[in-house]
Amino acid sequence: MKREEADRRIGELTEKLLRYQYEYYVLSRPSVSDSEYDRLFDELLRLEEEFPDLKRPNSPTERVGSDLTQELPEVRHTIPVLSLDKCYSYAELEEWIEKTERNAGRHCSYFVEEKIDGASIVLYYEKGILSRAVTRGNGLVGNDVTGNVKTIGSIPLRLSQPLNVAARGEIFLPLRYFEEINREMDIPYANPRNLASGTLRRVKSSEVAKVPLDIFVYEGFFEGQPGTHLEILELLESLGFKLNPHIGFFANDEIVSEVASRHPSWHCGELSEMGAFIEERRAARRDLPYEIDGLVVKVSEIPVREHLGYTGHHPRWAIAYKFEAPEGLTVVHDIDVQVGRTGRITPVARVKPVKISGSTISNVTLHNQEYIDMLELAIGDMVAVSKRGDVIPAVERVVEKNEEGNTTWKMPENCPSCGSRLEKIGAHHFCRNPDCPDQVRGRLRFFVARGQMDIESLGPETLDVLIEKGWVRDIPDIYTFDPEKLLELPGFGEKKVKLIREGIEKSKKKPFRTVLQALGIPEVGGKVIELLIDAGYRDIGSIVELAKRGDATPLLNIHGIGEKTARTIIEEFSKPDVLERIDRLKRAGLNFKEEEAEEKLSQSFAGQTWCVTGSFEHFKPRDLAMEEVKKRGGRVTSSVTSKTTHLLAGSNPGSKLDKAVALGVKIVSEEEFLKMLQS
Ligand code: NAD
Repeated sequence: MKREEADRRIGELTEKLLRYQYEYYVLSRPSVSDSEYDRLFDELLRLEEEFPDLKRPNSPTERVGSDLTQELPEVRHTIPVLSLDKCYSYAELEEWIEKTERNAGRHCSYFVEEKIDGASIVLYYEKGILSRAVTRGNGLVGNDVTGNVKTIGSIPLRLSQPLNVAARGEIFLPLRYFEEINREMDIPYANPRNLASGTLRRVKSSEVAKVPLDIFVYEGFFEGQPGTHLEILELLESLGFKLNPHIGFFANDEIVSEVASRHPSWHCGELSEMGAFIEERRAARRDLPYEIDGLVVKVSEIPVREHLGYTGHHPRWAIAYKFEAPEGLTVVHDIDVQVGRTGRITPVARVKPVKISGSTISNVTLHNQEYIDMLELAIGDMVAVSKRGDVIPAVERVVEKNEEGNTTWKMPENCPSCGSRLEKIGAHHFCRNPDCPDQVRGRLRFFVARGQMDIESLGPETLDVLIEKGWVRDIPDIYTFDPEKLLELPGFGEKKVKLIREGIEKSKKKPFRTVLQALGIPEVGGKVIELLIDAGYRDIGSIVELAKRGDATPLLNIHGIGEKTARTIIEEFSKPDVLERIDRLKRAGLNFKEEEAEEKLSQSFAGQTWCVTGSFEHFKPRDLAMEEVKKRGGRVTSSVTSKTTHLLAGSNPGSKLDKAVALGVKIVSEEEFLKMLQS
C-alpha cells in the first residue's frame, strides 16, 4: 500500500474504532459486531506496524478502550487495569509462549481460564471490607459503581480475613435470565454482555438490583503479593470470592502433580496438553450457563510477570485466545409482527434457514422499530445473524442491501390480529385492545403453562378449540366452562376430559404467588412478587387498595422496586378488566392470600449447605427449590465450595456438578429432593 493511502486508511480506522469503542463501552450499544470490530482493529495494527510514524497519538491500539461516563464519579485505580493481547489459533499461541519464555529467560507454568464476556470490574477492599467497586474506565481512572455492585449477591461485602485487596473480575448476566429481562428493556440489548455492562452503569442501584448479575473473580493484588497465580487463586477463594471452576494448569515440571492433587477439579497437565484442553473448552462453550468469548492464557510466576511488564494496552504475561462468535449469513424473506399477551408487538424476521453452531435458524426477533432503524434493515437484505450460547439469535448487521429497492421496514399502523390502531409507548408498539384474539390466546397459554398453573391437559390446541367455540374468552372462563361439552367434539374422549377437569381442580390449590405470576401482569414477575410479599403485601386486597389510592410511594420504598415497576403496578391494578378477572378468579376459589404455613416446617435441613445446578420440573425458577431449603433451616450458596454439603442437580447440570463430584458433595436428584421436603 502506498504511504498516502496508508495515512488515509489509518486516520479512517482510528476514527471509526474510537467511535465504536464509545458505542460499545459507554453506551453498551455497539453498532457493529465484535468480529467486525476485531477485523478493523487487526487491520489498523498491521498498518501501524508497517508505517509506525503514521500511528495517531490517540490510536486505539495504544490504550485501553475507555468506558468512562460522566454520569458517575471517577476514581483513580491503584493497580494496572488493562485489556489483553489476543490471538486466534494455537499456532499463534505457541509463538506467544515461545516469545514469552525467550523474554523471561526461563520456562514458565501457565493457567488457562475462561474469558468471561461481561463487564470488567475492580473490587477494592480495605481491611477486608468492600470499599469501592470501579469499572475499568481508561485503565487509569474508572467510574465508581460501588452502590450497584453491592446489589450483586455473589460479591462478598466482607472477606474472611481483614486484608487490603484489589480483585479484578468480570460481572456477567447468566444466559437464562437474558431473554426475560431484555424483554422489559425499553430498547433491548443485543446480548447479555451489553445488558450486564449497561446495567452496571445505571445511575440508580434499585434498577440494578432487579437484574440478577453474577461475577467471576480472576486476579488479585495483595500487599506482599504471593509468588504465583496459583497462590493468588487459592487466596481469593479462601477469602470468599467466586472463581470460575474451569481452570487449566500446564507446566513441564513436577509442580503439575502437586497442583492436580490440591485441585482435583482443575485440568492439570504438561504444556503439550494445553491444545487439547483449549479444544475441549471450545466444545463445552455452548453448554455453559454464561457467555465466554475465548480463553485467557497467563503466566503463573509473579516475578516473571513483573519482569515482562505491560504495554499501554495489555500485560505481556497474558494473552486472550479468542473464539470466533458463531455467525452466519442469510437473507430476510419477510418481517412478520407478533402480538404478545400484554399487547406488545414484536417484529420477527423470517430468514432463509441458516445453520449456526448446530441449530437451524429461520426466525430472528427484531425487538422493535428502533432496533430495525438502527440496523436500517429492509426485506430482501442479506444479514449477519449470530447465535451466542443458547441465547435467541440476533441480526448483527446488514451485509448487503437488497436489489429490489426496499427501504427500511416500517411497523404497520394496525394490529394484525384485531385491526385496532397500534400505539407507541417508549420504544415499543402496543395493541391496546384487551380483547384482541392474539392477546387472549397469549394470556391463556401463559396462565396454564408449566411452572405457572400447570394445567398441562389444557395445551395450546385444546385452548384454541375452547376459544374458537367461544367457551373460553378470558382466564376465569377456564373455571366456569363445562368440560363435558368437549365430549361432543372429535378427539375428546372421557379420559382426556377427566384429565382436563382434574388439572383445573388441582390448579385451585396453587399458592397466591403462583396465581399472581400466572396472571402475567406486566412488571409483576417472580422477583417483584417476592419483594411485594416480603414487604407485607400478602394478599391481593392490599395491592388493589394501594392502586386505588394511586400512591406509588410505598412501593418505591421497597428496595429493588424501581419507578417503572411501581408505576405499572398502580396502573395495572386499577384497570377494570384486571380487577374483574381477579374478582372472578377469587369466586372460582383460587388463592389470593399468602399462606402462613412456613413456621410449622421442621428444620430438617439445619446445618446443611446447599447449592443448585441445572433445571427442574417442579421448581421454576430453580431458586424456588432453594427457598424450600432455607425454610427448613438450610444454608444456600451460589457456588460449590468445600463447605457445600448437598448439590441439587436437575437436568442439564452445569460445571457445579463436576466440582461437587470432585469434592465428594452429596448429589441429590429432583425426585429425592421432593421426598426430602415431605419427610
Ligand atoms: P477483551 O474483552 O478482548 O479482553 C480483556 C478483558 O477480558 C479484560 O479487561 C477482562 O475484563 C476480561 N476477562 C474476562 N475473563 C478474564 C480472565 N479470566 N482473565 C483476564 N481477563 C479476563 O478486551 P477489551 O479491551 O475489553 O475489549 C476489546 C474487545 O471488545 C474487542 O476485541 C471486541 O471484541 C470488543 N469490542 C467491540 C466493539 C464493537 O463495537 N462491537 C467495540 C469495542 C470493543
